[in-house]
Amino acid sequence: MRFTVAVDGPAAAGKGTISKAVAQQLGLAHLDTGLLYRAVGAKTLAGHSPIEAARALQPEDLDSGDLRTADVAQAASKVAILPEVRAALVDFQRAFADRPGGAVLDGRDIGTVICPDADVKLFVTASAEIRAERRYLELNAKGATTSREEVLADVKARDERDMNRSEAPLKPAKDAVTLDTSALSIDEALQAALVVIKAKLPNN
Ligand code: C5P
Repeated sequence: MRFTVAVDGPAAAGKGTISKAVAQQLGLAHLDTGLLYRAVGAKTLAGHSPIEAARALQPEDLDSGDLRTADVAQAASKVAILPEVRAALVDFQRAFADRPGGAVLDGRDIGTVICPDADVKLFVTASAEIRAERRYLELNAKGATTSREEVLADVKARDERDMNRSEAPLKPAKDAVTLDTSALSIDEALQAALVVIKAKLPNN
């Protein structure tokens, strides 16, 4: 069975949590494509050229070090502007999407660029304030010493860069179903996503 679920949306909207849980419940593979850009961003912070780092990226780079920091997130959104970086990461993502057991990919351009023929496209979003609060609590739980204001500024800076770049900007695909998680619990958001996805499953 080839079955591709594309989940796009801005930072901290809940798309990672939803994608992981959907993949687990439906027995699909899951790729967090943000990790690819974060891995390239981390290499850039370590002094490498972003384009060379993207071209040389290996699957094990996705597990290396802490790719979840705010600095790496900002570096990721800066390298993500470069067309050559994006081009170097396309084949890996498409091969993942095409695996026989089916796959869920989450990111910014999955439904628009990477998998325009995906069986289901979700655009998961929430207000910037709510996303920043969620990210703040997450970072705080990990012991980071950052303020709410800093996190909100980071989220807004990343939104701005992701939505306004010329190459593969963040936007819903024309045929995407938008899921606003601002007023939803994780479980409510997951159930809403499952309703949309299950309706498209073969043999449904
Ligand atoms: O999803 P995550 O927050 O980990 O992504 C980090 C950054 O990587 C995003 O802000 C965005 O600039 C970039 N990205 C992208 N395209 C994707 C996934 C992530 O441009 N498919």
